[in-house]
Amino acid sequence: MSRADPPPPQHKRLSRGRLENSRPEVLFNGIPISAGVAIGPVFSAAEPAPEITRHKILAADSAAEGARLDAAVAQSRKQLTKLRARLAVLPEESQAEIAPLIDAYIRMLGPSRLIRAVRQRIEETLLSAESAVVAETDAIAAAIQAQAEPGMSADDHASLERRAEEVREIGRRLVRNLTRAPYRSFTALPPGAVLISEALRPSDAALLDPSRLAGVATEEGGAEGHTAVMLRALGVPAVLGATGLAHAVKPGDVAVVDGLSGTVVLNPTAATIAAARRAVTAFARERQRFGRLRRLPAETLDGEVVELQANLELPLELPLIAQSGAVGIGLLRTEFLFMNRETIPDEDTQAETYRSIVEAMGGDPVAIRVLDWGGEKDIEALSSAGIVPEVADANPALGLRGIRLLLRQSELLEIQFAAILRAGLAGPVRVMLPMVTTVAEVREAREIYERVARRLRRRGERIPEKLPPLGIMIETPGAALSADALALEADFFAIGTNDLTAYTLAVDRGETEVAELYDPLHPAVLRLVQFATEAALRMRMPVSVCGEMAANPRLIPLLLGLGLRSFSMTASAVPRVKQAIRGVEIDACARFARSVMEQSDPTRIEELIAGFARQTATADVRGGH
Ligand code: PEP
Ligand code: MG
Repeated sequence: MSRADPPPPQHKRLSRGRLENSRPEVLFNGIPISAGVAIGPVFSAAEPAPEITRHKILAADSAAEGARLDAAVAQSRKQLTKLRARLAVLPEESQAEIAPLIDAYIRMLGPSRLIRAVRQRIEETLLSAESAVVAETDAIAAAIQAQAEPGMSADDHASLERRAEEVREIGRRLVRNLTRAPYRSFTALPPGAVLISEALRPSDAALLDPSRLAGVATEEGGAEGHTAVMLRALGVPAVLGATGLAHAVKPGDVAVVDGLSGTVVLNPTAATIAAARRAVTAFARERQRFGRLRRLPAETLDGEVVELQANLELPLELPLIAQSGAVGIGLLRTEFLFMNRETIPDEDTQAETYRSIVEAMGGDPVAIRVLDWGGEKDIEALSSAGIVPEVADANPALGLRGIRLLLRQSELLEIQFAAILRAGLAGPVRVMLPMVTTVAEVREAREIYERVARRLRRRGERIPEKLPPLGIMIETPGAALSADALALEADFFAIGTNDLTAYTLAVDRGETEVAELYDPLHPAVLRLVQFATEAALRMRMPVSVCGEMAANPRLIPLLLGLGLRSFSMTASAVPRVKQAIRGVEIDACARFARSVMEQSDPTRIEELIAGFARQTATADVRGGH
């Protein structure tokens, strides 16, 4: 269900049914991720066990298999300990309900009989770690269930079932961590459901079908992590970082997810549901209103034309981009091609995918970014193919990611360059390098780019006569501060404020614990944006912003005032940003930017931005109404 659609009939039935239920309404606070309100039955049934493809091992491999088990046990304990630590923010009754469950899980992962028995199965019967976990947890669960006796009370029966389920659940968690399987299979997701889970990885989000899903809420995650970016792109109302939520839901629950305020309500009362329905209607009206902006130019009051493009993370966003009024794609994140698969996509497959996207844009430009693996964008295909280590570095965000990995595994880069060059015949493309930190990286990548072009021509392959521009993302402080040198090597800059903020402030984008410290308005981030922009403008080189900062209409006057005239963002944000552009004059933006850049206090900057937004909102008379 898209957030603007009225709830399908089963919502009503379920929500009314729920209201007769005695479970009290519970409110969870999380991080607002994607605007819109969803009302729906919770989909949080027992996790389906991930598929196991490796059952037996050789005797010589049993020690390595034991080490895999140890790593999965350690990872599972870490996940649960982190969840446990955060429960303190919940009301006492909710803590009392959830904490014992998580404690039981943690105990099972200690030096328990379960773990000893799994290890024994690996050593004695040469089962793979995942098969041994399933065999042992199934055996223990069956033994617990076998304790049921005729004449036992219903409560005692339920307690046995619960304990058996807890053992199976710990088995599923271990198998998930062993196989790195997507967190959940979404095939069973009923239409109109609200998906609630402990965590959602970007590769899980890539499997979601936004037309079937009302909303998403999880316990883990941060505002600018890749999962958040994808949920926003899919236009699904979403809240991440709602502590305790996944462990509080029961089968048959209904939830209201408010992606603007960041709240999730379980078992909503009649009044809460009525308010949520009003919000759904208001949101649909607002969307309609914004729809009228589609054909109006992105132009300031004094006639300065601004380029507005869309970011694309999944091909299914193409219709949303067409509706948004974006002119082209300013950031095509190619990671989706590598997710949820066992092998690396070959040149033909990639060329075909890029070509179909370029064709769909009907002559508007498409900036294709080569693979940005690493950090929180953990992509299974690469680890299964042995290209990157299966166990990531202790500090993956600072490790072999982005352009570093591509230069190390240059075949990956060659295949992708070749595919993009071939797709370049279908329309104007640009090529973009992620996570650049040095001039040498750009030079080396350009040599490879030109070599690939020569090879394709020799092979008789048709590619554009003039090679498409090769630009770079400015998303590390190192790149921003070397922007003047990088501008001599790159054909354009795209400022990625998501990573730039994370690396400047040393805040993980996807981490709930430090989400409050993630602030693109920190003067250090703004100064880096300014420095990089000015370096590009001095060279008369195209420069754009394609991080989430560009999707915030309140920040657009500041970015315009810094000299930026090109923005790329999630499609749903394009109308709002266009409206912001149409309500301001460039001179006023420049004066405003100067006053902001004089500040050193992020709170004061926030106040100035709020003040400017209030002023322009009252002056906004040109469209959107
Ligand atoms: C960024 O870092 O701002 C960016 C646009 O790239 P991604 O979000 O894909 O890391
Ligand atoms: Mg980035």
